[in-house]
Amino acid sequence: MRIGHGFDAHRLCEGDHIIIGGVRIPHTHGMLAHSDGDVLIHAICDALLGAIAGGDIGRLFPDTDPALAGVDSTLLLERVMQEVVARAYRVGNLDATVIAQAPRMQPHIEAMRERISGLLGVRVDEVNVKATTTEKMGYTGRGEGISAHAVVLLMPSDG
Ligand code: MG
Repeated sequence: MRIGHGFDAHRLCEGDHIIIGGVRIPHTHGMLAHSDGDVLIHAICDALLGAIAGGDIGRLFPDTDPALAGVDSTLLLERVMQEVVARAYRVGNLDATVIAQAPRMQPHIEAMRERISGLLGVRVDEVNVKATTTEKMGYTGRGEGISAHAVVLLMPSDG
């Protein structure tokens, strides 16, 4: 078995929605990013890459690549999963935390779990997504940005 951890953060900017865990959420701001700014999917990509010692998302998908401008981050996750499968691993389970002062994540958590489990090729009960605020402390607490952590366990695909 192999374990991996990922972290990501993006700054909020002008806009009317954010995308977290592949789910579009209406908000008073948008995400400033080269891609769609999906911090949760980015953290999951890095957790998977960490588990296979595959570097990180920035190395695989440079933010200087014009082809990746505004890209749907779930496409990046699909490519990372191809790397996982190519190394003869499958996902055992995933646990993740989104850190945001606003908007409320709770109404969207189940949709995120559904979306992520489909992308990882696991059951919904093998994916957990939590959300917390930081009690108005720090950059997430001041509403300057949103961050996410993810931990993933990989199993041999024949195990
Ligand atoms: Mg990112």
